[in-house]
Amino acid sequence: MTTPNALICPADEEQGVPILPYNTDPNLPVSYNYDCDPEYYQQWLKKERNVYADANPIVRCPHHANPDSDSTLLSNLYLNLSFSNTIYLSEADWRKHPIKMYGSLEAAIVGYEKAIQRVPENPDFFCLYSELIRLYVKVERNEDAENLIDRFKSVMKPDENIMRFRDYWTLVEMLKIIGKHQEALQLLQHLENTEQENYFI
Ligand SMILES: [Zn+2]
Repeated sequence: MTTPNALICPADEEQGVPILPYNTDPNLPVSYNYDCDPEYYQQWLKKERNVYADANPIVRCPHHANPDSDSTLLSNLYLNLSFSNTIYLSEADWRKHPIKMYGSLEAAIVGYEKAIQRVPENPDFFCLYSELIRLYVKVERNEDAENLIDRFKSVMKPDENIMRFRDYWTLVEMLKIIGKHQEALQLLQHLENTEQENYFI
């Protein structure tokens, strides 16, 4: 690369010098996060690419956030470049921004439906269920939202000691999104009642 500041973001006040010294690039100052070392790629990123059909980020720029903003998006803003060469904004957790990732509400629904089809029972991707249900509610596909909850109930793992809390929490979140607050509350009470039997917690 011939231009020495080619990898410096105009908004980067530190001019490519990272906060954490181990992120320092040996050749040129870099403003962008590129978390793609071979081991991480093989173990996780490759799978994520497949699940999100390359809409997940490969390079991210953290220099555009406005810490004073009241908006959670703007105060925690990332600029993402995806594996499929699209550019979009998100918070640190880009998984919660499927509409930005896929470019439209309709495309986001299709993208997350397909993503769930690829890993329906993998707890690492259970957040797909709560994000998809949010999208269904936006377009008033209430029956699809109810069906998705039933599907989640059939794959969640309520009998595993610690993991069941994570899955119940996802279920509670989904019930809240479709307005079933009473059922969500009952679930939480059930969890509280059974907690004493659970010596791991
Ligand atoms: Zn930037």
